[in-house]
Amino acid sequence: MAFDEHFIRQQICDIGRRVWDRGMIAANDGNLTVKINENEILCTPTGVSKGFMTPDMICKVDLGGNVLKSDGIYRPSSEIKVHLKVYKRRPDVNAVVHAHPKYATAYAIVGRPLTKQIIPEATLSFGEVPVAKYALPSSAELADSIEPFLDTHDVVLLQNHGALCWGEDLIAAYFKMESLEFYAELCFITEVLGGAKELPNSEVERLLDLRRRIGMSGRHSLLHGKKR
Ligand SMILES: [Zn+2]
Repeated sequence: MAFDEHFIRQQICDIGRRVWDRGMIAANDGNLTVKINENEILCTPTGVSKGFMTPDMICKVDLGGNVLKSDGIYRPSSEIKVHLKVYKRRPDVNAVVHAHPKYATAYAIVGRPLTKQIIPEATLSFGEVPVAKYALPSSAELADSIEPFLDTHDVVLLQNHGALCWGEDLIAAYFKMESLEFYAELCFITEVLGGAKELPNSEVERLLDLRRRIGMSGRHSLLHGKKR
């Protein structure tokens, strides 16, 4: 699949503003990438608030991480290695979003995966969310930390750091981040209220059947991560 570069540059700015507006990132945190063809990836610049980007700031790299285009002072995100890891393993993925949304990141900090099936939308979208082991931001080890989940998940928490989502396009990857944060917040609130009433297994199975029937894209922890 090939995307229109001008459109995607603008879309990265629009989604960056939403991620920042929703408080999912502070200051210059977070990064977004979109694969626009077989070997070219558009990438948010490092050291810039993702709420204040303009299309000319967006950098371009190849699948090896080599810079193909960067406008003057703007350099690709230091987390590009993590994004490249996803693209190399998952040819069906064309966009990756990394952010630090508060509730999801709080669960990442305490090292608790999100496993409760409590609302149909989260069960349909991704099911369970694992925690990848801690590694230094921007290191090759951080890219390696997500390796165990690449074939089976589209949504991962990064221990003591944040969250990473990927999808067939930027909107799909971003919506997974929004859904993750909404779900993590509900997990927290329901714990405070004394514990969620979880969906019974039979209902989870019906939701997974629905997901198969409507042909939702991507991998799903309960369909690809466990035998069913
Ligand atoms: Zn981060």
